[in-house]
Amino acid sequence: MHLRLKSGDDDMEMKFWNAATKAISPYVAGEQPKTRCIKLNTNENPYPPSSACEDVLRSVDVESLRKYPDPTSAKLREAVAGVCGVETEMVFTGNGSDEVLAFAFRAFFDEQTMIAFADITYSFYPVYAKSLGIPYSLIAVRDDLSIDVERYIAFKGGVIIANPNAPTGILTDTTDIRRIVEADPDRLVIVDEAYIDFGGESAAFMTKEYDNLLVVQTVSKSRALAGIRVGYAIGNSALIKALERVRDTINSYTVDSVAQAVAAAALKDDEWFEVNRGKIIASRKSLTEKLAEMGFETLPSAANFVFTTKRDVDARMLYEELKKKGILIRYFDLPRIDGYLRITVGTPEENEALCDALSVLVPASRKA
Ligand SMILES: *Cc1c(COP(=O)(O)O)cnc(C)c1O
Repeated sequence: MHLRLKSGDDDMEMKFWNAATKAISPYVAGEQPKTRCIKLNTNENPYPPSSACEDVLRSVDVESLRKYPDPTSAKLREAVAGVCGVETEMVFTGNGSDEVLAFAFRAFFDEQTMIAFADITYSFYPVYAKSLGIPYSLIAVRDDLSIDVERYIAFKGGVIIANPNAPTGILTDTTDIRRIVEADPDRLVIVDEAYIDFGGESAAFMTKEYDNLLVVQTVSKSRALAGIRVGYAIGNSALIKALERVRDTINSYTVDSVAQAVAAAALKDDEWFEVNRGKIIASRKSLTEKLAEMGFETLPSAANFVFTTKRDVDARMLYEELKKKGILIRYFDLPRIDGYLRITVGTPEENEALCDALSVLVPASRKA
């Protein structure tokens, strides 16, 4: 007889799960709704990618898909190297920067080699560390939610910093990144620059000077290509070799041939890039101003999202009410930030719809 899984019957469900799978606490991503809505919850770019991407897709030779992709992603790595001003040997590519980060955790940290990250940052970091049994320390952000640079300098062990940080949007400048890197040449510093193109200076150029710095970037946000899953790391060739070793124990062909070509084309389109980020930076400014008029305090953002709060207003309620109106943003029920909303910068029209909806909710939203 075939036993069918009864939903809710956890013991049955976990029949074949090993101890590690049972113990995992997976990352919870923002929703990807099937219905039409105003989607300001996962920091996607509100505009379509460079038209060069469409040209590549239209000219895909379907016959060529029978072959495996170039495992070294040579052309894509050349494109990254061009943008970042480094040698191709200093670039590693992966299936989204999430994968690159997961490989980096595997390659560089273990029970003996700790890692530290901010108490308020990208919630994938504790997920990777826990799943690999890597002990980690949390470094508290300052009262203004900025990265506490001195504590990273003092920490003995590897560190990872999202820069700008998520979900705050606050930038740590490269002079401070340099101080953290220089403080201890024997520990690795990973800088996750998923949002750097929206208002910060990349630390990528410093990877030529320091062998203990790895910079990770993605085409998901500033190249409007979250759907193709391409991320990359820039670092000394010895670090890149380690990432390749890890990749080649799991899956030698992580980046498919279509994704390699589309991402390379996007990276080469400087004009699209400058225009697009200019629009988002301008929208961020006007969104922040409109929020201020409604009494919201917004942290200084160098990203394509804002992190905002209003005294005496229940942030969770605002999140839920906006959702009912078909506007998705992000709310984190976590200590220190449960009064905040994270709003992706959309098109001017989307931002306006959001602000209109908020302006109706805010006066009625005061707690008794
Ligand atoms: C979005 C994001 C990533 C992951 O991006 P990919 O789509 O996997 O390339 C990594 N780090 C931070 C902080 C992010 O916000």
